[in-house]
Amino acid sequence: MTNPNKPQCDMERDCTGAVAYIDNKGFIYCKPHGVERKYAQPCRQLVPWELALIHAGKPIRYERGPKPRPARPMTKAQALQTIDNIFGMAGYTEGQGDLWLATPLTQLKDFIQQLPEETNHDDQ
Ligand SMILES: [Zn+2]
Repeated sequence: MTNPNKPQCDMERDCTGAVAYIDNKGFIYCKPHGVERKYAQPCRQLVPWELALIHAGKPIRYERGPKPRPARPMTKAQALQTIDNIFGMAGYTEGQGDLWLATPLTQLKDFIQQLPEETNHDDQ
């Protein structure tokens, strides 16, 4: 009762392990065989969207893999909040306390406040 569409480990014909790895030649393996394969040549774990493609019968490439998450720039509101947090952690309210910290922080806050509102950075 094997599902002909079920992706199969390329290491052994009879292997029924769930596919979880790919090597740099494009062969796919179950987890134990993938780990074993790593000793012989570059082999990495598949990420969920790649597994979905494999199950849909689509080819995938070793070179792709996890998408690096673009760093999101801090928003103006977050920057101002961060400064308030530092004031809070330092244990004083804005404009008071140790000058060595309060003065540059207040200046930084003033600087951020006069910046134009940023446009929204959408994902992708
Ligand atoms: Zn296997």
